[in-house]
Amino acid sequence: MLSEQTRRWQELDARHHFHPFTTHKELAEKGARIITRAEGCYVWDSEGHKILDGMAGLWCTQIGHGRERLARIAHDQIRQLDYYNAFFQCATPPAVELAAKLAQLLPPGMDRFHFVNSGSEANDTVIKSVWYYWNLMGKPEKKHFISRTLGYHGVGVGSASLTGMRFMHEPFDLPLPRFHHIGNPYPWIEGRGKDPAAFGLEAARWLEEKILELGPENVAAFVAEPIQGAGGVIIPPETYWPEVQRICRQYDVLLVSDEVICGFGRTGSWWGHETMGFEPDIVSMAKGLSSGYVPIAAVAFGRRVGDVIFAGEKEYAHGVTYAGHPVCAAIALENIRIMEEEGLGTRASGPIGAYFRERLTTLADHPLVGEVRTKGLLACVELCKDKATGELFQPVGKVGLVCRDLCVENGLVMRAIRDGMVLSPPLIVTEEQIDEIVTKARTSLDQTLAAIGRA
Ligand SMILES: *Cc1c(COP(=O)(O)O)cnc(C)c1O
Repeated sequence: MLSEQTRRWQELDARHHFHPFTTHKELAEKGARIITRAEGCYVWDSEGHKILDGMAGLWCTQIGHGRERLARIAHDQIRQLDYYNAFFQCATPPAVELAAKLAQLLPPGMDRFHFVNSGSEANDTVIKSVWYYWNLMGKPEKKHFISRTLGYHGVGVGSASLTGMRFMHEPFDLPLPRFHHIGNPYPWIEGRGKDPAAFGLEAARWLEEKILELGPENVAAFVAEPIQGAGGVIIPPETYWPEVQRICRQYDVLLVSDEVICGFGRTGSWWGHETMGFEPDIVSMAKGLSSGYVPIAAVAFGRRVGDVIFAGEKEYAHGVTYAGHPVCAAIALENIRIMEEEGLGTRASGPIGAYFRERLTTLADHPLVGEVRTKGLLACVELCKDKATGELFQPVGKVGLVCRDLCVENGLVMRAIRDGMVLSPPLIVTEEQIDEIVTKARTSLDQTLAAIGRA
């Protein structure tokens, strides 16, 4: 029996609250899980269940939940200066200090920043800035964007057009004109039976084919995540990114790295493009920038675009009320200080990342598991119907949801993307907590097998 308090919240939620990416009738019948408290790598719901947060909130809580230092910084900053804007030739110290700090963390030359509130806004800012850039460069035809199927770049009208998911396009008459999608470098699905290195090059050349089809003089930029997150933790073969970079340079196409998930240590270095070995012209970031404590996001511009925007004679007529919000910027700065002090920017490439991989890989012997892949502290455990052939369940996604619900019942947040079980724990995760993840995941897999009637 649920407590009266929980039932009240569920009823109010069902009556008044539209959620992201939700079928509301179905949720109203089940009732939302109400999360009331969090600390370190755990969250608690309103019924007192303790759940290991294997998704770091939503790919964002790098430093773990409930840090006293961030509470104190927020308190102090609100008392000093709660809010002021960055319009009308004003700035606030936290925004300036944060921009300078980020310039130190990114490669040399990538040193100018525009702040927004979400990853979606960051990518909409990318789109407009790229169009602005090519206008200033006297190439007004160069306006087409290329991104990838299963790429996730947000929900704004522009950023959702970059996103490569049909279920996010059809109900909204998207994508906008001038947004194009190529296939993704997904060895488990697209690269079946192929040599990984050869497949990486093949997938990169889909970009070249699309550029040639559209005409290089019309193509503004290629936007992609170093590792596709919401698409299912798609880790491209090592040959992919260097070839993509070569193609972008050859055809004078800007290269944009969407680091909203991969940034801030997730893959084992501060930036996913460092891990994957390429040099973007523009970087978008959000999530880990504040470890999710408050909304803040940013676009980083390298010299090529940054210098042109800087020198633009016409106003850069773009920016939101809360651009560089002093409270959010102060929290982001303190989050980065904590990450630096605790070595979290590179922790995932050290022993803890190796332990994560080693322990998760033990699940590969389970009858439901077709593949386990990890990079840093990102992982996907692919479920399939037939281990030997890799045959998928039909319809795709049902078994994943069964497993996800069982995971939560067993005290572990593991997200299902199609039939891939995805993990992205806080970067402070310990070996004991990784053991707990793997134990609970195995129990949930066993129960999934029983539930689908093959045990
Ligand atoms: C989450 C995400 C976004 C969108 O960020 P929001 O803050 O939800 O708008 C964009 N790109 C990537 C790669 C993401 O994971």
